[in-house]
Amino acid sequence: MSHVFHRHLKQHYPTAVGGEGPYLIDAEGRRYLDASGGAAVSCLGHSDAEVIGAIQQQVERLAYAHTSFFTNEPMEALADFLVERAPQGLSSVYFVSGGSEAIEAALKMARQYFIERGDPQRRHLIARRQSYHGNTLGALATGGNAWRRRQFEPLLVEVSHVSPCYAYRGQAEDETPEAYGERLAAELEGEIQRLGPETVMAFVAEPVVGATLGAVPAVPGYFKRVREICDRHGILLILDEVMCGMGRTGSLFAAEQEGVSPDLVTIAKGLGAGYQPIGATLVSEGIRAAIAEGSGFFQHGHTYIGHATACAAALAVQRAIESRDLLPRVQRLGEGLQRRLEERFGEHPHVGDIRGRGLFRGIELVADRNDKTPFDPARKLHAAIKRTAMDHGLMCYPMGGTLDGQRGDHILLAPPFILEESHLDELVDKLDATLRAVLDH
Ligand code: PMP
Repeated sequence: MSHVFHRHLKQHYPTAVGGEGPYLIDAEGRRYLDASGGAAVSCLGHSDAEVIGAIQQQVERLAYAHTSFFTNEPMEALADFLVERAPQGLSSVYFVSGGSEAIEAALKMARQYFIERGDPQRRHLIARRQSYHGNTLGALATGGNAWRRRQFEPLLVEVSHVSPCYAYRGQAEDETPEAYGERLAAELEGEIQRLGPETVMAFVAEPVVGATLGAVPAVPGYFKRVREICDRHGILLILDEVMCGMGRTGSLFAAEQEGVSPDLVTIAKGLGAGYQPIGATLVSEGIRAAIAEGSGFFQHGHTYIGHATACAAALAVQRAIESRDLLPRVQRLGEGLQRRLEERFGEHPHVGDIRGRGLFRGIELVADRNDKTPFDPARKLHAAIKRTAMDHGLMCYPMGGTLDGQRGDHILLAPPFILEESHLDELVDKLDATLRAVLDH
């Protein structure tokens, strides 16, 4: 018996022993095309010599130095790199070890900002339903995923949840995308008024919704309206780019495509590309200055913030993405992937929607594509797809539908940026074989 407390205690896991470009290899020598980058993590594949070299060099020079005593070179260099390329107004970076920690830091920074400004009544948080922002209690409370929250509800702080921007199911037939975005903005405004604008601290959203909805971008103009509303009421805009950031959608930050400047941005997964665990919260100059000129101390921290080796790995990853000009490639391959998915599955009786940006694509599965009826969640389609895909040598990231039928099962695709066109064909062939086996079509 394994002494590891695995997340699924009734499941058998193959043992991963190696990686080669976009493939993972298990102990029995089976190769899996990593079409989901794990969970949108491995953007450079699994054997990048430059990143491995940078990690080796850093470990030999300095593996770790606690940040309550020292700063370190790779942390400073990575912060410079990110701020130079970040949306306007973001001027500093707080480094953590993953996405949930990045969200926790953003929430606490927002709260401390208002305290430093003498505005302690600002404590309400608004987020969106069917969202995921992490599994620690603050992040879980922020997320609007009913299934993930259910058994922990009594431990969660109160957060308001408004509708996500989810055109496939949310936009009415006689409504333009612009009118839909307006309607959602009005809903946010209504919730702010209900809470009392002077008590609201921040609004949190993913620019492109990943895990919970499956690569769903907002309709044009939605985030601009959200930004205006937040500005009008002095509310901070926190964009969670843990999954969709770091080039995944074709621009380094997904917010660039929305034309908005957030106050806080969380990043993680693609930042270190899985070579080291690392996340970060990018902070606006206004927030940094309020804390710097006030107490001068952010009252939050973890042992591994600014880990030198993790920062060196992330810096090597980000430099590689830039020096190899991978972002235009993400755009090109992403369009190629979308086209192939539409060609292969566009008429599939159980494919309701194919969507996304860059190398971040989602396929929503439905029992009936005419009325968008989801499959019964009790069927656990997502689990069968994940297992069967692995049997076919493919890693994809399927997610179950909601119990209330508000969305269907979906498959998230987030392959490494280093793919060749031939890998896209392999991906679609393997996915086709998987869906045929599971759905009989
Ligand atoms: N935010 C988003 C948007 C995510 O997708 C995730 C992870 N799937 C998280 C936060 C939490 O990140 P982590 O699992 O690294 O804590």
